[in-house]
Formats: sequence, C-alpha cells, structure tokens
Amino acid sequence: MSFLNVVEIESALMGLASAYPNISKLLTLPYFTAEGRQSHALVVGTGTSCPKTGVLVISGAHAREWGGPDICIDFAADLLEAYTLGTGLVYGGTSYSAGEIKSIVERLDVIVFPDVNPAGRHYSQNSYAMWRKNRNPASSGGQASRIGVDPNRNYDFLWDFNTAFAPGAQAGGTLASADPASDIFHGTAPFSEAETKNVRWLFDQFPHIGWFMDIHSYGGDILHSWGDYANQVTATEKNFTNPAWNGQRGLSGDAYGEFIGACDLAKFADVGNAVSAAITGVRGETYAVAQSFFLPSWGAPYPTSGASDDWAFSRYFSDPSRKKVAAYTMEFNRVHSFFPTWAEMESIILDVDAAYSGPT
Ligand SMILES: [Zn+2]
Repeated sequence: MSFLNVVEIESALMGLASAYPNISKLLTLPYFTAEGRQSHALVVGTGTSCPKTGVLVISGAHAREWGGPDICIDFAADLLEAYTLGTGLVYGGTSYSAGEIKSIVERLDVIVFPDVNPAGRHYSQNSYAMWRKNRNPASSGGQASRIGVDPNRNYDFLWDFNTAFAPGAQAGGTLASADPASDIFHGTAPFSEAETKNVRWLFDQFPHIGWFMDIHSYGGDILHSWGDYANQVTATEKNFTNPAWNGQRGLSGDAYGEFIGACDLAKFADVGNAVSAAITGVRGETYAVAQSFFLPSWGAPYPTSGASDDWAFSRYFSDPSRKKVAAYTMEFNRVHSFFPTWAEMESIILDVDAAYSGPT
C-alpha cells in the first residue's frame, strides 16, 4: 500500500458507492479543475423519515498534505462495512459499538469529499512534492512560478484582506496574498476556483449540514473559529460583518476581537476535546484543541482570511436562515512532515478515523 493517487481516490469512491448502494450515494461535483479533472464525494447514510443532520468532511485542499484523502476513504469504508456487518469499530484503544455505528449511519448523513484539489495532488505526487496550491494558470502570465491559487484562502470570509485587516496582519506571512507567486495567493475573487466552488455546492445541496471538518496536515491540532483574530464573547459589534472595523483586524493585543457567542465557543471546545480524546485513545497521540488564530503547532498567532472553517461557520451570521455549522480544521500528524512513511500513515489513519465522536 501507499498513498492513493488522484485516479485511485475517485475510483475508490465509485467502488464504495456500488458496493453499498443502499447506504451510500456517489456525488459528481459540478466544477472541473483548471486541468479538467472532475471530483466526487460520497454520502454515507440511510434513508429515513426522521430529520437528519449532515456532517461534511473534506480533505486534499493542500496538495502536499498527503494522507488526508487516504484518511477519508478509509473512514467511509470502515463505516459502510461495519454498518453492513452489524459490528462496531475498534481503533487501538478507541472503539465504537455496533449501536453507535448504527446511530451514525441512521441519524446522520456523513458526506466525504476526500480530494478537493486533485490537480495539485497530481502535481505534488508526480513533479514537485512540496506543491501546495491548485494548478490554475489564469493569473500566471505564462510563468510557471506564478501558477496556482491556495484553495484555503479563496473562501468568502474576509477575503479582501487588504480592506479587512490591519496592514501589519500580513507580517507573519500566513494571512493571504494577492501575489500569484505566493503559496497563499487567494485568487481573483472569493470562490474564483473550481475547488472551493465544489465545497460551496455541497453546502448548497445539503442545507442540513451542521458539522464540518477540513482535514489538513501537519502539527496535531484540532482548530475551530475564528481564524482572523482572537475571539471575544462580549462585544457583539466587533465582528466580521461590521465594516467599521476594517483595517483593524489581525493583530494581537489591540482593540478588536472577533465576536463569538459563549455557547458556540463552549460547544466548539467540548466537541473538539471529545475528538482529541478519541484520538488519544488509539495510541496516545495528543492533539491540541484551540482557536485557529492561535494555531498551537505554529507557535505564534496565525491569522488567516478566506479559510474554509471560518466561511462555513460564518454563513449563519451572514444569513441566519441557514443552519449554523460547527466548523473545524484538523492538522493531522504530530511529526512535522507532510510525507510520513506509509507505515506511519497507517497509524495516523487509525488516529483520525477514530475521531468520529458521534456529533448530532
Ligand atoms: Zn493545509
């Protein structure tokens, strides 16, 4: 075994959908990458007359973060097999009963989109391993060094960072960039890229999504909103929709702070801690639970604009008729490497697949 290539990922999804037709459904995503690659997702869940909650798990946005798509495929396969056989699942010291698996499949729609950025992954696996972005050449001016957009700076959350953030917020090099040569080039507009349009399409198709996880590497972190600035729970007017705070976000220690409700914050922490405990149970790995802005494995504030988790959580505040989404980013692998050996990756897959935590 080794890391799946981009063709194997799509064929694995098709294979699962045809092997488990009663409890899964293949989704063909509508937006083709700049290289003409088409992506798929898989819905795991039984039909029922009861209202269900959607759980969306995505990975592969960053091309070099090998292992995320493999985690997602294994996760879906384990769930489908265990439900069909009427068994539980055991990952080292973390286990789920047959009843818990039945509950996940019958009460939730688990939507898995393993490889958001197949063109980037193909380039990373075949030409330049450290490639991060997609392969869109539209802003390159014909120069190879200027190809690609960072999908995880292209979502519609404070995307226009030059307006929304304090000038110094860019100093750490994590926020976003308008330079196509940058690894964090944010594109020409929010959702300018096929990769992010496909994720948005899933949210539009499944308005009952209440949980979201974007799987990245590395570091060993379970991150929740907000990612633009330090959270605060008292001053509601200090929030991403308020233009009065433009030019003042993204620096630690000044007057701004991104508002988050105390109950939302508590829920983020509770479920994040449950996910972390499930991972630790497998073989003792400890994943930190934190606000994205304070990315623990980075060791310094890590302001971002246009990231998937913030956009997913923010949709409710932009339009309260939408379901509120508890959104997370995971940085798997505590060893600081994008390219674990396959033997190590097999252990990491068990760690992350153990993190079902049964959200409702
Ligand atoms: Zn990443």
